[in-house]
Amino acid sequence: KYAVITIDGPTASGKGTVAHRVAKHLGFHYLDSGALYRLTALMAQRKNISLDDEASIAVLARALPCRFVHGHVMLEDDDVTDDVRAEAIGVAASRIAVLPEVRKALVDLQLSFRNAPGLVADGRDMGSVIFPDASLKIFLTASAEARASRRYKQLIEKGISANMEDLVKDLMERDARDSTRAAAPLKPASGAIILDTSEITAEQAVNQVLEWYAE
Ligand code: C5P
Repeated sequence: KYAVITIDGPTASGKGTVAHRVAKHLGFHYLDSGALYRLTALMAQRKNISLDDEASIAVLARALPCRFVHGHVMLEDDDVTDDVRAEAIGVAASRIAVLPEVRKALVDLQLSFRNAPGLVADGRDMGSVIFPDASLKIFLTASAEARASRRYKQLIEKGISANMEDLVKDLMERDARDSTRAAAPLKPASGAIILDTSEITAEQAVNQVLEWYAE
C-alpha cells in the first residue's frame, strides 16, 4: 500500500494550502475530499434535487462525473473550478455531508486517489474513516478569527465580495454542523498530531508536516 498523509481540520484552517504544498514537495498525489462533497452538492443543485433527498444524492455521488486536470475541477464537460469554491456551495456541501448514504457513496472514489508514490489527503475524516492506516495524521486547526480572515483574503483576491461578519457566522455554523453530526463528526483521528496554525505561516506549517513525515 502506498504512503498516505492525512490532513483534517475545520473549514479555512489552511488544510488545502498545506496539503497541496506537502504533496507537491513529496511528489505525491493530492486528494481534496471537500471538493467531492462540493461537486456532489453542485450537481444536485443543477439537477434540482433537494439537498435532503439522501437516496437521490447518493446515486449522484456514486457516479460523480468529475475529473481533476492541472488544478482545474471538471464536472462532466464544464470547468467548475470557481463554482465549487463558492461559499454557498460550501454550505450546501456541509448539508449533504451529514447524510450517511452520501458519505458511503464517496468512499471508493476517495480510495482511488491512493496511487504511487503516495497521497496527501485533506478533509474532515481522512485519518479517522477513509485512510485509518495513514503513515502520518495531522489535525490542522486555527482560531475562528484567524480562519475567517484567511477566507476573507482568499475571496477578495478572487474578486469576490465578502463580509467578515457573515464569514464568521457561516464558519461557526459549518463547524457546528460538521462536529455534531452523527456520521463522521469532525474530530482528531486517533493518533493525529494537532497543529494550530493561528500564529504560524503556511510555509511553517508545511515544514512542520514534512519534518514529522521524515521522522
Ligand atoms: O473542506 P471543504 O470546505 O471544501 O468541505 C466542504 C464541506 O464538505 C465541509 O463543510 C464538510 O461538511 C464536508 N466534508 C466532509 N468530509 C470531508 C470533506 C468535506 O464532510 N472529508
